Amino acid sequence: MALIIPARQNLHRVGLLVAIRAFEEWTNYLVTCCSTRQTGNLIQYFLIKDSDRIKAWQFIGTNLPLTLNEVADPSPATGEVVVAVRAAGLCHSDIGILTIEHFLPPFVQPPLTIGHEIAGVIAQVGAGVTDWKVGDRVGICQVGHNVTGIMRDGGFAPQVAVDADVLLRMPDEVTFEQAAAGNDAGMTAYHALVIDGQIAAGDKVGLIGLGGVGQMGARIAVLMGCEVYAAELKTDVWPLAHELGVTRVVSHISELADLNLDVIVDFAGFGETTAAAIQTVRPGGRVIQVGLGRTEATISTHSLIMKEITLKGTLGGTMADTSAVYDLMASGDLDPVISTISFDEIPEGIERLDRGEVVGRLVAVFPE
Ligand SMILES: [Zn+2]
Repeated sequence: MALIIPARQNLHRVGLLVAIRAFEEWTNYLVTCCSTRQTGNLIQYFLIKDSDRIKAWQFIGTNLPLTLNEVADPSPATGEVVVAVRAAGLCHSDIGILTIEHFLPPFVQPPLTIGHEIAGVIAQVGAGVTDWKVGDRVGICQVGHNVTGIMRDGGFAPQVAVDADVLLRMPDEVTFEQAAAGNDAGMTAYHALVIDGQIAAGDKVGLIGLGGVGQMGARIAVLMGCEVYAAELKTDVWPLAHELGVTRVVSHISELADLNLDVIVDFAGFGETTAAAIQTVRPGGRVIQVGLGRTEATISTHSLIMKEITLKGTLGGTMADTSAVYDLMASGDLDPVISTISFDEIPEGIERLDRGEVVGRLVAVFPE
């Protein structure tokens, strides 16, 4: 085999032994050239495979545009796999990353490939991974301390490396778009209602906001046997609410004060929504705060105390929540409204989301 390296390409520099081992192991590498040179006492070999660069949409700094950069394609570390991305959801958190200073944890420095609602097919398996194989259909759960698209490079790229222990096997009936929407929006909605809201069949449940998360929350509550009411300012979403099984939709949750709602989940979080939820929920009821449209609220502590209301904040969920969402999707009962766009349309999609023009969940789909 001839060994040739195009001079302009980004080269992986590896030591001689590593290079030889890599060459032996990675038989899919097209190594068309090799050159040697002496650097001090070290002989360096340069290896390159036929395409070792991918294009990724990256956050490069607050209030700077999402930028398409060429980056090295990922390879799995020990305990990791590389997933070929088939679908990646767009989320209000992506807007937060791009526009809010210090939105990301301080240890995360740009550039960062964003996109954290990811589903795809395993393309490479790292050392020590025994439960997964190439070709498995997986969703990437938004749990743990190394969350893709938030703390490490994410899914607005054709490939993403991820810890194998946050993978969830996709039921055959679930599409990649559904799984992507389920990984964050679905999981968050499920956790807010079922775990924190403790909803049960027969409960009267109020929801504020029927965006990507709220619409899934509405459907989950209906499927749990609850009587579901919703407050949504955008009247064009109201027909969808009725399709989901919502009993009644209003503009403001306070219009439902006479219903004695057992639980209200605020998916909007604009301050006055939290205050209105506390005023509206029944004595002894629960208000679950999911949305963070504003970072502060002025509430009536008098009502909170006199009505003995539980106000609970919730963030994300667990792998068990995500798995429950996949099961509901597999049964056909949970089929969220999803609009799809292409990889190239991701920045425009984020702008549409920011302008409030998206109904349901917006998901970028990738070719096989
Ligand atoms: Zn998200």
